[in-house]
Amino acid sequence: MKKRHLLAPGPTQVLPEALLAMARPILYHRGPEYEVLLASVREGLKFLFQTKNEVLLFTSSGTGGMEGAVVNTLSPGDRALVIRGGKFGERWGEICEAYGLQPSYIDVEWGRAVEPDLVAAALTADPSIKAVFTTHSESSTGVLHDIEAIARIVGKTPAILIVDAITSVGVVDLPMDAWGVDVVVGGTQKALMIPPGLALCGVSDKAWAMVQRSRLPKFYFNFIAERKSLEKNQNTFTPAVSLVVALHESLAVIRAEGLTALFARHDRLARATRAGVMALGLQLFTERPTPALTTIIAPPGIEAGAIVKRLRAAHGITISGGQAQLKGKIFRLAHLGYADESDVVVCLAALERTLADLGYPVKLGEGIRAAQEVLVQAC
Ligand SMILES: *Cc1c(COP(=O)(O)O)cnc(C)c1O
Repeated sequence: MKKRHLLAPGPTQVLPEALLAMARPILYHRGPEYEVLLASVREGLKFLFQTKNEVLLFTSSGTGGMEGAVVNTLSPGDRALVIRGGKFGERWGEICEAYGLQPSYIDVEWGRAVEPDLVAAALTADPSIKAVFTTHSESSTGVLHDIEAIARIVGKTPAILIVDAITSVGVVDLPMDAWGVDVVVGGTQKALMIPPGLALCGVSDKAWAMVQRSRLPKFYFNFIAERKSLEKNQNTFTPAVSLVVALHESLAVIRAEGLTALFARHDRLARATRAGVMALGLQLFTERPTPALTTIIAPPGIEAGAIVKRLRAAHGITISGGQAQLKGKIFRLAHLGYADESDVVVCLAALERTLADLGYPVKLGEGIRAAQEVLVQAC
């Protein structure tokens, strides 16, 4: 018998209450029970996104929400600025190009956060830019970008700021109304503790004004239609009802924990994990880490893929390796969503054993001890 632990940066472990709720007989999505449920989900999402505006909900993975953000705000020929510093930043560019836009790019070295001044310079150089696209928590590198600083810059211009927050909503503070972030895209399989399949889009008043004028083609991901439906506690098309039911459970748990405690929990798990891996002599990949995951450089002579494989085969733990140019070079331990200190301890214990198996010199317990020293402190 082997117990399995899912500690990859998505999908993540599912909340037991959500699993049980999904096992109940399906609700009719045009019936009164579903309407009551959706009304409560709408309130929960506004709380989570820290906005007074409607948070739109689409049945798709997170990327669908990203595509929706592009096609609902822009028109053919519009200028856009895309910040690329990882696989997900690149995705913004790919979506824009798929719709015939020719964005300008700020290319950031993978592992670094964008310098907000570069955004200011790009907007000054081209005042016709209508939208700035960035990632918040870039899960391919483990970097957390400074959205508050970027929002302050973009907020002074007519452009809107569109943020991929798929791995940061529910992990780290992102008060969209207070900071002036215009579109915030989330997904359910990261911090929301439920399976993949729903995309979430928070939209500011400034962005809604652009949505009214947007002329890029769209059909399924139609923000105006979806808002109109939601205001009647409906979805335009048949939603993934069981995921909405699961989301209702997870939002209840998030509300009960409270945002401050939620962010503090993620921060604490991240600090403990980082302390643990550094005590083993390993190097972190970035100096500006997201609290969602820890990205670690594979030690010399050991391929990151071998660590990932052995953790799974020998210890039942699923983590992620690197993508694209980081393949073989880094590995990623996630600690977001339905995660607590037991996950951190289990993961570090198995990592110590794995490294020892692969011939890396470790003293068993050294990583755990450093993590425990963080965990015993009050948060
Ligand atoms: C997971 C993730 C996505 C979305 O991926 P999907 O597979 O479409 O859900 C996008 N951006 C970031 C930063 C992510 O971590």
